[in-house]
Amino acid sequence: MKTPRKKIVVSEFIDASAIESLERHFDVHADATLVDQPGLLRDLLADADALIVRNRTQVTAALLDGAPRLAVVGRLGVGLDNIDVGACGARGIHVIPATGANARAVAEYVIAASLVLLRGAYLSSDAVAQGQWPRPALSNGREVAGSTMAVIGFGGIGQLVAQLACALGMRVVGYDAHIPADAACWRETATRCAPFADALRAADVVSVHVPLVDSTANLLGAAQLSTLKPHAVVINTSRGGVIDERALADALKHGRLGGAALDVFADEPLKAGSPLAGAPNLILTPHIAGLTVQSNARVSTLIASRVTDALLDDRRAATISQGVST
Ligand code: NAD
Repeated sequence: MKTPRKKIVVSEFIDASAIESLERHFDVHADATLVDQPGLLRDLLADADALIVRNRTQVTAALLDGAPRLAVVGRLGVGLDNIDVGACGARGIHVIPATGANARAVAEYVIAASLVLLRGAYLSSDAVAQGQWPRPALSNGREVAGSTMAVIGFGGIGQLVAQLACALGMRVVGYDAHIPADAACWRETATRCAPFADALRAADVVSVHVPLVDSTANLLGAAQLSTLKPHAVVINTSRGGVIDERALADALKHGRLGGAALDVFADEPLKAGSPLAGAPNLILTPHIAGLTVQSNARVSTLIASRVTDALLDDRRAATISQGVST
């Protein structure tokens, strides 16, 4: 007897080639607008075997309650804060993140933001086009070579940022709450492992790469920001909530900080009227640090392949336990 095809629901955007590869084995319902249609998503999950999401679909215990056959959740990215991992574990649902597949995109964003913010020369196009010639104001930028990059959180992305910063001649100092000082990753990336406060004090650039958990909420608040050099720049591509946005805006507006680039926010999308509005030397992007043409293809291919393996293994296990050969 032919085994019925399993069903996969994809609720956010995914590369077309990944859909094609999933369709070789499964019935696939891929619709990037499903994330904004919770009723339809619930209906589609009633008989689904796998769900693939990015970071907007909230995979809650209530959603899982209506998906009794769900065996796999694929995440087109790495942060799992939109997925109730405990509830998935309790139901035996395998959660699969795209670990590593968008690290290069994030690391390049960090390096680009460091170059732009330290140099301070790229944000005056309107003034130059209007006939102003602000040479004196734009002649005091800094080179990254010889500057110090503090990497806070030294996992996959943090280590890649350290390697790229080193290649540009930066000194790199790193802090990670869970990696011991004698771990090989510090030597391998020519990074000096330091306590958090020391790393902040040494920094010309601070780049944050921790998950959002209780111990990292407001990790960079007013007190920590006040220990930075006044020309230092802060880059956050990790998760909103790790930096106190109001304190950061305040430091920028009062000249106590050189600049900042934020790709992630405590509330996304960022609401109009945020304290960040009008702060100088501030680059805001809508959670796209990990998104490039290449990373989207890598992430989609990786998740399609791992979800396929998980569902086919599951089917093999089921047929073996029923004594049926395929
Ligand atoms: P990772 O798990 O490889 O590394 C995180 C590191 O943070 C770990 O080494 C861990 O020990 C450390 N850490 C945990 N708690 C800490 C604490 N209290 N103080 C210091 N260090 C602590 O994760 P990753 O793949 O490098 O991702 C880093 C962050 O980037 C995550 O928050 C992820 O969600 C985010 N991210 C964002 C984008 C984007 O598009 N903006 C893309 C990819 C990843």
